[in-house]
Amino acid sequence: MTATRRHGIGMTSQRTRDRMVGRLEELGIKDQRVLAVIRATPRHLFVEEALASRAYEDTALPIGYGQTISQPYIVARMTELVLQTHRPQHVLEVGTGSGYQAAVLAQLVPRVYTVERISALLERSRRLLLDVGFGNIHFRLSDGSWGWPEKAPFDVIVLTAAPVTVPEELLAQLAPSGFLIGPVGPEGAQQLTIVRRENRRFVHQIIEPVSFVPLRRGLEA
Ligand code: SAH
Repeated sequence: MTATRRHGIGMTSQRTRDRMVGRLEELGIKDQRVLAVIRATPRHLFVEEALASRAYEDTALPIGYGQTISQPYIVARMTELVLQTHRPQHVLEVGTGSGYQAAVLAQLVPRVYTVERISALLERSRRLLLDVGFGNIHFRLSDGSWGWPEKAPFDVIVLTAAPVTVPEELLAQLAPSGFLIGPVGPEGAQQLTIVRRENRRFVHQIIEPVSFVPLRRGLEA
């Protein structure tokens, strides 16, 4: 990434970013902590250079390898839900992708663990996030259906790719009273879902319909 890219677009984009945050408020995002972080995070650094001018539209954009950076509204909504009860300390994200959701979370949560199955995406995001100065994000190349057992338990697990049903291994890595949040269901019929650990039970709550890339098994060859 060149200095021109980082500073040049960054300078002109604060106003565009403010406008995007205004739209997120209109769509019902209320948590001021989340809005402040989105206002401060240069999303254009997380998309391909040719798409940088579209980075502050409220839309998902391609990031290569058939994957997308999530729509800002959904990043804001999920982050708001992550912070809904108490301030989680230890969060796992499944699906690093561009690294944008991890960057947003890392400004609100002390420790973020993120796993990705496509090595090229993981390495690009790792480099970018270290370059921008995030020291509290930990990366791992793996099939996130298995979570990250060595770092469990997690206060919150955030899925950014949709399984048809929630993998049991992930639920087993939730702290007591922890919860998982993410899209669940087949393509075309996914629901943003929260699964809360309550004593020995897991309680499912459906939030709203969403459209994410599918959670795939195994590493990308
Ligand atoms: N959080 C990302 C969203 C990227 S799209 C962002 O802010 O940009 C979802 C990502 O999940 C893709 O990069 C995809 O490769 C990844 N993914 C899909 N199945 C996965 C799995 N089983 N384990 C880890 N990552 C997975």
